[in-house]
Amino acid sequence: MSTSTSLPATSAGKHAIVYGGSTTGLIAAGVLSRHFERVTLVERDRFEDSPQPRKGVPQTSHVHGLLTRGMNVLCDVFPGFQEDLKAAGSHFMDMTGDHAWFMGGLWRPRIKCGLIFYAQSRPLLEWVIRQRLQALPNVRILDGREVTGFQMSADKARVTGVQLRAPGGEQEETLEGELVVDASGRGSRTPQWLEALGYPRVEETHIHVDVVYASRLFRAPPGFTADWTMMSIAPEFPREKRLAVIERIENGHLLVSLGGWLGTQPPMDDAGYVEFTRGLIQPHIHEVLEKAEPLGPIHVFRFSHNQRRHYDRMARFPEGLAPAGDAFCSFNPIYGQGMTTGALQAHTLGECLRQGLGGVSQRYRQQVGQLLTVPWSMATNGDLRLPEVEGKRPPAFGLTNWYGDRFQHLASYDEEALRTFSRVMHMLESPAALFSPRMILKVLTSRPSAADLKRKPESPFAPAAAKGQAA
Ligand SMILES: Cc1cc2nc3c(=O)[nH]c(=O)nc-3n(C[C@H](O)[C@H](O)[C@H](O)COP(=O)(O)OP(=O)(O)OC[C@H]3O[C@@H](n4cnc5c(N)ncnc54)[C@H](O)[C@@H]3O)c2cc1C
Repeated sequence: MSTSTSLPATSAGKHAIVYGGSTTGLIAAGVLSRHFERVTLVERDRFEDSPQPRKGVPQTSHVHGLLTRGMNVLCDVFPGFQEDLKAAGSHFMDMTGDHAWFMGGLWRPRIKCGLIFYAQSRPLLEWVIRQRLQALPNVRILDGREVTGFQMSADKARVTGVQLRAPGGEQEETLEGELVVDASGRGSRTPQWLEALGYPRVEETHIHVDVVYASRLFRAPPGFTADWTMMSIAPEFPREKRLAVIERIENGHLLVSLGGWLGTQPPMDDAGYVEFTRGLIQPHIHEVLEKAEPLGPIHVFRFSHNQRRHYDRMARFPEGLAPAGDAFCSFNPIYGQGMTTGALQAHTLGECLRQGLGGVSQRYRQQVGQLLTVPWSMATNGDLRLPEVEGKRPPAFGLTNWYGDRFQHLASYDEEALRTFSRVMHMLESPAALFSPRMILKVLTSRPSAADLKRKPESPFAPAAAKGQAA
């Protein structure tokens, strides 16, 4: 395992502190190790020396896809990261070739698009990142400690460190640092702490979606020979509000996440959970779950709202502080953007530090404000399509939705459109690529062939020999 990072080093300062040791915090600490003599990562939970769920990351038992752009950042910070992940048991899959993907009313063509997706449990992903971080000689991990507030300069214009203690303990310690990164997730207390210090309360935008996710681990049933690594059945708003994803992960297990919007809720009992999948637009996931053996409880996560904190709009904000990841902005998870956006914020912070420590908070907040525009509008515009979801619709919303539906349909049979959509989804291209003259023409004039309309995955239980003959 390599211990280096590929980011060019600068010497911005002596000591940086990151609190929150989930994906954003781990990546941010890796980035900062290139810019500071020492970095301390503070995490409230105790870390186990193996991939384990943790109390502080309750979403950990649900399917977590890392977009290609996020993986690119990880590989920049920790060269060779992909190989480490693969060695730990991750399945590498082509985003369209190994993904049975029902969206836009059709099963998408199984073409190789060259975008690699990584199928593993979230604890495994986090554990591999943590291993890379703790191998860095100038990084110290302080787990089992929670940050309880900021230490400030006398004029309260600069954060100079944090106060911490063991959770539930009384003994407070102070840790001094020239830069403090808040990666403590969507429940971050930075808004309250700043207000108590005399700063204005940060503006927040909430888009309520009321989505419930229910996930469970299964052993693959006897005779399971699926030729896909992941199968997903996307909802068709506003008519259909159920989502289902099944993914082959490490140890030969299948991880299933079911979701429902606005009162459509996956049941939490054994029979009801499987029965919910019978109501999906396509039967395949139900066929697998009828035969698969559950390996643990059903984990439920209620996601009430998308949440964006407008730190970029604050006229007064202390130097030396950088909120990152879900602490800055947290999206409906169906769009799979959270970890990647956190990684991009960590990368942005590193870029801002190239100009030195002076004014870094200001530069960083502005750039993150811009960075969030696309993922935020992708997530919230999707949710705002449901008439029940309250929130201001952007101009020409109806027309954009009409085009978006037609594009999804096109991407279900046109390979170029599918490749383009996949690159936009993985944040490698701007959504403007969906509106190129060539794509607009195709959207307006193309029609699926009879074969496109009939395409569907093979049964995951067909004998392997018969599949080989058919191919
Ligand atoms: C059901 C579900 C499915 C998801 N699926 C995907 C997906 O497919 N793809 C994707 O990219 N994203 C997904 N996400 C989002 C993703 O989980 C987050 O965006 C990601 O975890 C990054 O968050 P974070 O590191 O900023 O914060 P979190 O993951 O929330 O971590 C915060 C950390 O801070 C610690 N902490 C909190 N307070 C303190 C304190 N005071 N002091 C010290 N430590 C503290 C916590 O213990 C925790 O470790 C999903 C989310 C949910 C809910």
